[in-house]
Amino acid sequence: MSLDLRGHVALVTGGNGGIGLGMASGLAKAGAAIAIWGRNSVKNDEAKAALERLGAKARAYVVDVTSEEQVAEAMKRAVGDLGRVDSCFANAGVGKAAAFPEMTLADWNAVVDINLVGAFLTFREASRHMIERGGGGKLVGIASIGSIHGMPRQAQYSASKAGLTAMVRSLAVELARHGIQANTILPGWIETDMTEGARSWDKLRETVVHRTPARRWGTPADFEGIAVYLASRASDFHTGDTIRIDGGYAVF
Ligand code: NDP
Repeated sequence: MSLDLRGHVALVTGGNGGIGLGMASGLAKAGAAIAIWGRNSVKNDEAKAALERLGAKARAYVVDVTSEEQVAEAMKRAVGDLGRVDSCFANAGVGKAAAFPEMTLADWNAVVDINLVGAFLTFREASRHMIERGGGGKLVGIASIGSIHGMPRQAQYSASKAGLTAMVRSLAVELARHGIQANTILPGWIETDMTEGARSWDKLRETVVHRTPARRWGTPADFEGIAVYLASRASDFHTGDTIRIDGGYAVF
């Protein structure tokens, strides 16, 4: 069965909460072993326990994806502990609202370093491993509909996510000869820690519901199925794509 992930090893950065844990949970239910990376060891431990309750072999590593050394070391440890990495989800990300005329270089770098540079470092190590062991693999970037919509006070966030989708398209072409597929997921408005502030603002919370054809905010569980599909053999001829999981927001 092509969506069966028994014997598969998936790595999810930012897998200790929100969309990352939603994807990791779907992968666990499909039978995969999971490695998660995050900076917060308490969140890591709780997420690892939750994945184990779903029956998965799980490992959690304290990693800051902006550190070249930590990313390289954590990839080696995940491969050592779980045997291989078959799919890699670059999901770790942050947003930081800042008015453009007042935006400092530090504001810009704080977001781009995690969302774009972190994904570069993660995918580079994953692709080195996949090429060396042979047999292909899956790279999945978690971008945002902010990469196609104008988002006020989020210029650095939107730029980081558009950069990620462009990088992934390049990887889809360059790495195809190694049997590696690369795609990007664009989430819409999703209930996670990242949007806690936005959801506490009544007007924005309601506007999102009215502006979304599905008439609700998304949840981390909405990402279980797409993660399983993109990790599995079912997506072997699907590469270089951007897939919106947004309840129809972008086409309304
Ligand atoms: P959360 O804040 O719930 O999760 C973010 C995750 O990223 C956490 O697990 C966090 O772990 C991890 N993380 C942040 N910085 C680093 C770092 N430097 N190194 C390693 N891990 C890091 O947010 P979401 O689940 O909402 O976001 C997940 C992805 O989805 C992000 O890339 C986000 O941009 C994207 N997205 C979210 C949308 C939404 O509406 N929620 C919409 C569009 C895109 P820790 O705290 O342990 O560091």
